Amino acid sequence: MTHAREAGPVLPGSAVGVLGSGQLGRMFAMAARRMGYRVHTLSPDQDTPTGQVADVEINAPYEDLDAICKFANGVSVVTFEFENVPADTAAAAARCAPVRPSGAVLHTTQHRLREKMFLSNAGLPVTAFRRITSLSELESAASGIGPPAILKTAGFGYDGKGQYRINSPEDFENAWRAVGEREAILEAFVSFDCEISVVAARNGGGQFVHYGAIENRHRSGILDISIAPARVSPRIAAEAVEIARTVLEKLDVVGVLCVEFFVCPDGKLLVNELAPRPHNSGHFTFDANITSQFEQQLRAVCGLPLGAVTQLTPAAMANLLGDLWDNGEPDWNAAVAVPDVKLHLYGKSSPRPGRKMGHLTALAPTTDQALADVENARRLLSR
Ligand code: AMP
Repeated sequence: MTHAREAGPVLPGSAVGVLGSGQLGRMFAMAARRMGYRVHTLSPDQDTPTGQVADVEINAPYEDLDAICKFANGVSVVTFEFENVPADTAAAAARCAPVRPSGAVLHTTQHRLREKMFLSNAGLPVTAFRRITSLSELESAASGIGPPAILKTAGFGYDGKGQYRINSPEDFENAWRAVGEREAILEAFVSFDCEISVVAARNGGGQFVHYGAIENRHRSGILDISIAPARVSPRIAAEAVEIARTVLEKLDVVGVLCVEFFVCPDGKLLVNELAPRPHNSGHFTFDANITSQFEQQLRAVCGLPLGAVTQLTPAAMANLLGDLWDNGEPDWNAAVAVPDVKLHLYGKSSPRPGRKMGHLTALAPTTDQALADVENARRLLSR
Protein backbone atom coordinates (compact mmCIF):
# COMPACT_ATOMS: atom_id res chain seq x y z
CA MET A 1 0.00 0.00 0.00
CA THR A 2 1.22 3.50 -0.69
CA HIS A 3 0.14 6.95 0.49
CA ALA A 4 -2.83 8.60 -1.20
CA ARG A 5 -1.33 12.04 -1.86
CA GLU A 6 -1.77 13.99 -5.07
CA ALA A 7 1.10 13.70 -7.51
CA GLY A 8 2.62 17.06 -8.50
CA PRO A 9 5.64 19.13 -7.61
CA VAL A 10 6.46 19.77 -3.97
CA LEU A 11 6.95 23.52 -4.00
CA PRO A 12 9.07 25.88 -1.84
CA GLY A 13 7.41 26.45 1.53
CA SER A 14 6.66 22.73 1.86
CA ALA A 15 8.41 20.47 4.36
CA VAL A 16 10.79 17.76 3.12
CA GLY A 17 11.83 14.86 5.32
CA VAL A 18 15.31 13.33 5.52
CA LEU A 19 15.91 9.90 7.03
CA GLY A 20 19.41 10.01 8.49
CA SER A 21 21.16 13.00 10.00
CA GLY A 22 24.80 13.14 8.92
CA GLN A 23 26.71 15.60 6.77
CA LEU A 24 24.91 14.62 3.57
CA GLY A 25 21.59 15.55 5.17
CA ARG A 26 23.15 18.74 6.52
CA MET A 27 24.24 19.93 3.07
CA PHE A 28 20.88 18.84 1.61
CA ALA A 29 19.12 20.84 4.34
CA MET A 30 21.24 23.91 3.57
CA ALA A 31 20.28 23.71 -0.12
CA ALA A 32 16.62 23.15 0.78
CA ARG A 33 16.44 26.00 3.26
CA ARG A 34 18.05 28.35 0.77
CA MET A 35 15.15 27.61 -1.58
CA GLY A 36 12.57 28.21 1.14
CA TYR A 37 11.73 24.64 2.08
CA ARG A 38 11.36 23.43 5.63
CA VAL A 39 13.45 20.40 6.59
CA HIS A 40 12.59 17.65 9.07
CA THR A 41 15.15 14.96 9.93
CA LEU A 42 14.79 11.68 11.79
CA SER A 43 17.56 9.47 13.17
CA PRO A 44 18.45 7.68 16.41
CA ASP A 45 20.87 10.50 17.35
CA GLN A 46 20.61 13.98 18.85
CA ASP A 47 22.26 17.32 18.02
CA THR A 48 23.21 15.89 14.64
CA PRO A 49 24.90 17.52 11.64
CA THR A 50 21.52 17.63 9.86
CA GLY A 51 19.48 18.44 12.97
CA GLN A 52 21.61 21.53 13.64
CA VAL A 53 20.42 23.15 10.42
CA ALA A 54 16.97 21.53 10.06
CA ASP A 55 13.66 23.03 11.24
CA VAL A 56 12.70 19.85 13.08
CA GLU A 57 14.96 17.11 14.48
CA ILE A 58 13.23 13.91 15.55
CA ASN A 59 15.12 11.44 17.66
CA ALA A 60 13.78 7.89 17.16
CA PRO A 61 15.13 4.48 16.15
CA TYR A 62 14.53 3.51 12.49
CA GLU A 63 12.65 0.46 13.79
CA ASP A 64 10.01 2.65 15.49
CA LEU A 65 7.52 2.47 12.64
CA ASP A 66 4.91 4.62 14.43
CA ALA A 67 7.48 7.41 14.73
CA ILE A 68 8.44 6.92 11.06
CA CYS A 69 4.82 7.24 9.96
CA LYS A 70 4.25 10.32 12.11
CA PHE A 71 7.41 11.83 10.66
CA ALA A 72 6.33 11.07 7.07
CA ASN A 73 2.84 12.46 7.72
CA GLY A 74 4.42 15.77 8.69
CA VAL A 75 6.24 16.29 5.36
CA SER A 76 5.39 16.39 1.64
CA VAL A 77 8.14 14.01 0.51
CA VAL A 78 10.67 11.78 2.25
CA THR A 79 14.23 11.20 1.07
CA PHE A 80 17.26 9.77 2.84
CA GLU A 81 20.91 10.53 3.28
CA PHE A 82 21.81 7.14 4.72
CA GLU A 83 20.96 4.13 2.56
CA ASN A 84 21.18 1.55 5.30
CA VAL A 85 17.75 2.32 6.73
CA PRO A 86 15.82 -0.96 7.11
CA ALA A 87 13.41 -1.93 4.31
CA ASP A 88 10.48 -1.87 6.78
CA THR A 89 11.31 1.75 7.61
CA ALA A 90 11.18 2.82 3.96
CA ALA A 91 7.92 0.86 3.52
CA ALA A 92 6.34 2.48 6.61
CA ALA A 93 7.32 5.94 5.37
CA ALA A 94 5.93 5.14 1.90
CA ARG A 95 2.50 4.43 3.42
CA CYS A 96 2.37 8.03 4.64
CA ALA A 97 4.29 10.08 2.02
CA PRO A 98 6.12 9.66 -1.28
CA VAL A 99 9.62 8.25 -0.68
CA ARG A 100 12.24 9.16 -3.30
CA PRO A 101 14.29 7.30 -4.37
CA SER A 102 11.95 4.36 -3.73
CA GLY A 103 12.45 1.61 -1.17
CA ALA A 104 13.21 -0.72 -4.11
CA VAL A 105 16.32 1.33 -4.95
CA LEU A 106 17.41 1.10 -1.30
CA HIS A 107 16.76 -2.63 -1.25
CA THR A 108 19.10 -3.21 -4.21
CA THR A 109 21.88 -0.84 -3.21
CA GLN A 110 22.12 -1.59 0.51
CA HIS A 111 23.20 -5.17 -0.12
CA ARG A 112 26.40 -5.79 -2.08
CA LEU A 113 25.25 -9.10 -3.56
CA ARG A 114 21.91 -7.77 -4.78
CA GLU A 115 23.74 -4.74 -6.17
CA LYS A 116 26.33 -6.84 -8.03
CA MET A 117 23.57 -9.14 -9.38
CA PHE A 118 21.62 -6.12 -10.62
CA LEU A 119 24.74 -4.73 -12.34
CA SER A 120 25.74 -7.98 -14.00
CA ASN A 121 22.14 -8.70 -15.08
CA ALA A 122 22.09 -5.23 -16.66
CA GLY A 123 25.18 -6.23 -18.66
CA LEU A 124 27.41 -3.76 -16.80
CA PRO A 125 31.06 -4.63 -16.04
CA VAL A 126 31.89 -5.76 -12.49
CA THR A 127 34.80 -7.63 -10.92
CA ALA A 128 34.41 -11.44 -10.53
CA PHE A 129 32.44 -12.18 -7.36
CA ARG A 130 30.88 -15.07 -5.42
CA ARG A 131 28.35 -15.33 -2.60
CA ILE A 132 29.87 -16.80 0.57
CA THR A 133 27.88 -18.21 3.49
CA SER A 134 30.48 -20.38 5.27
CA LEU A 135 34.21 -20.78 5.80
CA SER A 136 34.28 -23.89 3.57
CA GLU A 137 32.54 -21.96 0.76
CA LEU A 138 35.18 -19.28 1.13
CA GLU A 139 37.96 -21.85 0.92
CA SER A 140 36.61 -23.39 -2.28
CA ALA A 141 35.57 -20.11 -3.94
CA ALA A 142 38.93 -18.50 -3.30
CA SER A 143 40.69 -20.91 -5.64
CA GLY A 144 38.68 -19.41 -8.56
CA ILE A 145 38.71 -15.78 -7.37
CA GLY A 146 42.16 -14.69 -6.24
CA PRO A 147 43.97 -14.56 -3.93
CA PRO A 148 44.38 -11.68 -3.85
CA ALA A 149 40.71 -11.10 -3.17
CA ILE A 150 38.53 -9.04 -0.84
CA LEU A 151 35.84 -10.46 1.41
CA LYS A 152 33.08 -7.95 2.21
CA THR A 153 29.95 -8.16 4.32
CA ALA A 154 26.92 -8.43 2.04
CA GLY A 155 24.87 -5.87 3.94
CA PHE A 156 25.44 -2.60 5.73
CA GLY A 157 28.99 -1.89 4.62
CA TYR A 158 30.53 1.45 3.73
CA ASP A 159 33.89 3.24 3.70
CA GLY A 160 35.82 0.00 3.66
CA LYS A 161 34.13 -1.22 6.88
CA GLY A 162 33.43 -4.96 7.12
CA GLN A 163 36.12 -5.77 4.54
CA TYR A 164 39.15 -8.03 4.68
CA ARG A 165 41.88 -8.44 2.10
CA ILE A 166 42.86 -12.05 1.43
CA ASN A 167 46.45 -12.40 0.25
CA SER A 168 46.94 -16.12 0.84
CA PRO A 169 45.00 -19.18 2.09
CA GLU A 170 46.26 -18.44 5.63
CA ASP A 171 43.93 -15.40 5.65
CA PHE A 172 40.65 -17.32 5.18
CA GLU A 173 39.80 -17.79 8.85
CA ASN A 174 40.61 -14.21 9.82
CA ALA A 175 38.65 -12.91 6.85
CA TRP A 176 35.58 -14.99 7.74
CA ARG A 177 35.80 -13.75 11.34
CA ALA A 178 36.28 -10.13 10.16
CA VAL A 179 32.96 -10.16 8.29
CA GLY A 180 31.21 -11.51 11.40
CA GLU A 181 30.73 -15.05 9.98
CA ARG A 182 27.72 -13.73 8.06
CA GLU A 183 26.65 -13.72 4.42
CA ALA A 184 29.45 -12.09 2.46
CA ILE A 185 30.72 -11.41 -1.04
CA LEU A 186 34.14 -12.47 -2.26
CA GLU A 187 35.51 -10.15 -4.94
CA ALA A 188 38.61 -10.55 -7.08
CA PHE A 189 41.13 -7.85 -6.16
CA VAL A 190 41.39 -5.25 -8.91
CA SER A 191 44.84 -3.76 -9.63
CA PHE A 192 43.40 -0.52 -10.89
CA ASP A 193 45.15 2.51 -12.38
CA CYS A 194 42.78 4.87 -10.61
CA GLU A 195 39.27 5.18 -9.22
CA ILE A 196 36.60 7.48 -10.62
CA SER A 197 32.95 8.16 -9.87
CA VAL A 198 29.98 9.69 -11.63
CA VAL A 199 27.37 11.56 -9.59
CA ALA A 200 24.11 11.86 -11.52
CA ALA A 201 20.52 12.91 -10.90
CA ARG A 202 17.20 11.94 -12.45
CA ASN A 203 13.73 13.31 -11.82
CA GLY A 204 10.34 11.65 -12.14
CA GLY A 205 9.99 12.91 -15.73
CA GLY A 206 13.16 11.00 -16.71
CA GLN A 207 15.37 14.12 -17.01
CA PHE A 208 19.00 13.03 -16.42
CA VAL A 209 22.02 15.18 -15.56
CA HIS A 210 25.55 14.31 -14.41
CA TYR A 211 28.71 15.97 -13.13
CA GLY A 212 31.12 14.07 -15.40
CA ALA A 213 33.89 11.77 -14.20
CA ILE A 214 35.45 12.61 -10.82
CA GLU A 215 38.86 11.18 -9.85
CA ASN A 216 39.07 9.69 -6.35
CA ARG A 217 41.90 8.66 -4.08
CA HIS A 218 41.19 6.51 -1.04
CA ARG A 219 43.19 5.95 2.11
CA SER A 220 42.41 2.90 4.30
CA GLY A 221 39.20 2.34 2.31
CA ILE A 222 37.95 5.91 2.99
CA LEU A 223 37.74 8.62 0.33
CA ASP A 224 40.63 11.02 0.84
CA ILE A 225 40.76 13.34 -2.20
CA SER A 226 38.48 14.00 -5.18
CA ILE A 227 39.59 15.87 -8.30
CA ALA A 228 37.11 17.23 -10.85
CA PRO A 229 37.15 16.83 -13.75
CA ALA A 230 38.98 13.47 -13.54
CA ARG A 231 42.27 13.31 -15.40
CA VAL A 232 41.15 10.42 -17.62
CA SER A 233 40.60 10.20 -21.38
CA PRO A 234 37.35 11.59 -22.83
CA ARG A 235 36.45 8.02 -23.90
CA ILE A 236 36.70 6.69 -20.33
CA ALA A 237 34.73 9.65 -18.96
CA ALA A 238 31.99 9.22 -21.59
CA GLU A 239 31.76 5.47 -20.97
CA ALA A 240 31.43 6.03 -17.20
CA VAL A 241 28.61 8.54 -17.77
CA GLU A 242 26.77 6.10 -20.06
CA ILE A 243 27.02 3.36 -17.41
CA ALA A 244 25.67 5.80 -14.81
CA ARG A 245 22.78 6.70 -17.12
CA THR A 246 21.94 3.00 -17.54
CA VAL A 247 22.02 2.45 -13.76
CA LEU A 248 19.70 5.38 -12.97
CA GLU A 249 17.27 4.40 -15.71
CA LYS A 250 17.19 0.66 -14.95
CA LEU A 251 16.80 1.27 -11.22
CA ASP A 252 14.22 3.99 -11.97
CA VAL A 253 16.02 6.34 -9.60
CA VAL A 254 14.30 9.60 -8.67
CA GLY A 255 17.04 11.48 -6.86
CA VAL A 256 20.83 11.42 -6.93
CA LEU A 257 22.98 8.34 -7.34
CA CYS A 258 26.74 7.87 -7.46
CA VAL A 259 28.48 5.09 -9.38
CA GLU A 260 32.04 4.29 -8.27
CA PHE A 261 34.42 2.70 -10.77
CA PHE A 262 37.85 1.13 -11.03
CA VAL A 263 39.81 2.15 -14.14
CA CYS A 264 41.91 -0.88 -15.15
CA PRO A 265 45.37 -0.59 -16.76
CA ASP A 266 43.87 -1.58 -20.16
CA GLY A 267 41.40 1.34 -19.91
CA LYS A 268 38.40 -0.89 -19.07
CA LEU A 269 35.95 0.24 -16.40
CA LEU A 270 34.57 -1.97 -13.64
CA VAL A 271 31.71 -0.76 -11.43
CA ASN A 272 32.72 -1.05 -7.76
CA GLU A 273 29.57 0.16 -6.03
CA LEU A 274 26.49 2.36 -6.06
CA ALA A 275 25.29 4.94 -3.54
CA PRO A 276 21.67 6.11 -4.03
CA ARG A 277 22.24 9.62 -2.63
CA PRO A 278 24.64 12.55 -2.88
CA HIS A 279 28.19 11.28 -2.48
CA ASN A 280 31.37 12.46 -0.80
CA SER A 281 33.08 12.62 -4.20
CA GLY A 282 30.45 15.19 -5.32
CA HIS A 283 30.98 17.64 -2.44
CA PHE A 284 32.97 19.99 -4.70
CA THR A 285 29.71 20.74 -6.57
CA PHE A 286 28.60 22.82 -3.56
CA ASP A 287 31.27 25.42 -4.46
CA ALA A 288 32.16 24.76 -8.09
CA ASN A 289 28.91 24.10 -9.97
CA ILE A 290 25.83 26.12 -10.86
CA THR A 291 23.65 23.51 -9.14
CA SER A 292 25.13 21.36 -6.36
CA GLN A 293 24.40 17.66 -5.98
CA PHE A 294 22.33 18.54 -2.89
CA GLU A 295 20.11 21.03 -4.69
CA GLN A 296 19.79 18.48 -7.47
CA GLN A 297 18.54 15.88 -4.97
CA LEU A 298 16.03 18.40 -3.67
CA ARG A 299 14.81 19.27 -7.17
CA ALA A 300 14.56 15.61 -8.19
CA VAL A 301 12.65 14.42 -5.12
CA CYS A 302 10.35 17.45 -5.20
CA GLY A 303 9.49 16.86 -8.86
CA LEU A 304 11.10 20.09 -10.09
CA PRO A 305 13.18 20.50 -13.27
CA LEU A 306 16.85 19.72 -12.63
CA GLY A 307 19.36 22.61 -12.57
CA ALA A 308 22.39 23.26 -14.77
CA VAL A 309 25.37 21.12 -13.77
CA THR A 310 27.95 23.45 -15.37
CA GLN A 311 31.24 23.39 -13.44
CA LEU A 312 32.51 26.97 -13.19
CA THR A 313 36.11 26.07 -12.35
CA PRO A 314 38.29 22.98 -11.81
CA ALA A 315 38.12 21.79 -8.21
CA ALA A 316 39.66 19.42 -5.70
CA MET A 317 38.22 18.25 -2.39
CA ALA A 318 40.09 16.87 0.62
CA ASN A 319 38.33 15.15 3.49
CA LEU A 320 39.08 16.18 7.07
CA LEU A 321 39.02 13.08 9.27
CA GLY A 322 39.03 12.97 13.06
CA ASP A 323 42.73 12.01 13.02
CA LEU A 324 43.52 15.67 12.24
CA TRP A 325 42.56 16.50 15.84
CA ASP A 326 45.31 14.22 17.24
CA ASN A 327 47.36 17.23 18.39
CA GLY A 328 44.40 19.42 19.36
CA GLU A 329 42.15 21.73 17.37
CA PRO A 330 43.38 22.12 13.76
CA ASP A 331 44.71 25.52 12.71
CA TRP A 332 41.61 26.82 10.90
CA ASN A 333 43.09 30.27 10.48
CA ALA A 334 46.06 28.94 8.50
CA ALA A 335 43.86 26.84 6.18
CA VAL A 336 41.37 29.60 5.37
CA ALA A 337 44.31 31.91 4.62
CA VAL A 338 44.62 30.02 1.30
CA PRO A 339 42.18 32.26 -0.58
CA ASP A 340 40.71 29.80 -3.10
CA VAL A 341 39.96 27.17 -0.45
CA LYS A 342 36.52 26.77 1.13
CA LEU A 343 36.14 25.17 4.56
CA HIS A 344 33.17 22.92 5.39
CA LEU A 345 32.70 21.54 8.90
CA TYR A 346 29.84 19.25 9.82
CA GLY A 347 29.21 20.27 13.44
CA LYS A 348 30.34 16.95 14.94
CA SER A 349 31.59 17.26 18.50
CA SER A 350 33.81 14.18 18.92
CA PRO A 351 36.65 13.80 16.40
CA ARG A 352 37.24 10.04 16.37
CA PRO A 353 39.97 8.61 14.06
CA GLY A 354 38.50 7.90 10.61
CA ARG A 355 35.36 9.98 11.29
CA LYS A 356 34.45 12.46 8.55
CA MET A 357 34.45 15.83 10.33
CA GLY A 358 34.51 18.16 7.33
CA HIS A 359 36.20 18.85 4.02
CA LEU A 360 38.09 21.50 2.07
CA THR A 361 37.39 22.43 -1.53
CA ALA A 362 39.94 24.31 -3.64
CA LEU A 363 38.91 26.12 -6.81
CA ALA A 364 41.66 26.95 -9.32
CA PRO A 365 42.28 27.47 -13.05
CA THR A 366 43.56 23.88 -13.44
CA THR A 367 42.85 20.59 -11.66
CA ASP A 368 46.56 20.21 -10.82
CA GLN A 369 46.56 23.63 -9.14
CA ALA A 370 43.34 22.85 -7.25
CA LEU A 371 44.86 19.59 -6.03
CA ALA A 372 48.08 21.30 -4.91
CA ASP A 373 46.09 24.03 -3.10
CA VAL A 374 43.77 21.67 -1.26
CA GLU A 375 46.65 19.44 -0.15
CA ASN A 376 48.60 22.48 0.99
CA ALA A 377 45.63 23.87 2.94
CA ARG A 378 45.07 20.53 4.65
CA ARG A 379 48.75 20.34 5.58
CA LEU A 380 48.50 23.80 7.12
CA LEU A 381 45.71 22.55 9.39
CA SER A 382 48.06 20.17 11.22
CA ARG A 383 49.95 22.14 13.78
P1 AMP B 1 34.00 -0.08 -0.97
O1 AMP B 1 33.52 0.14 0.44
O2 AMP B 1 33.58 -1.36 -1.56
O3 AMP B 1 33.77 1.10 -1.86
O4 AMP B 1 35.60 -0.14 -0.86
C1 AMP B 1 36.38 0.96 -0.43
C2 AMP B 1 37.68 1.02 -1.22
O5 AMP B 1 38.41 -0.21 -1.06
C3 AMP B 1 37.49 1.16 -2.73
O6 AMP B 1 37.24 2.49 -3.11
C4 AMP B 1 38.84 0.65 -3.21
O7 AMP B 1 39.85 1.60 -3.04
C5 AMP B 1 39.09 -0.53 -2.29
N1 AMP B 1 38.49 -1.76 -2.90
C6 AMP B 1 37.24 -2.24 -2.68
N2 AMP B 1 37.01 -3.36 -3.42
C7 AMP B 1 38.13 -3.61 -4.11
C8 AMP B 1 38.53 -4.61 -5.07
N3 AMP B 1 37.71 -5.61 -5.42
N4 AMP B 1 39.77 -4.53 -5.60
C9 AMP B 1 40.62 -3.53 -5.23
N5 AMP B 1 40.33 -2.56 -4.34
C10 AMP B 1 39.10 -2.58 -3.78
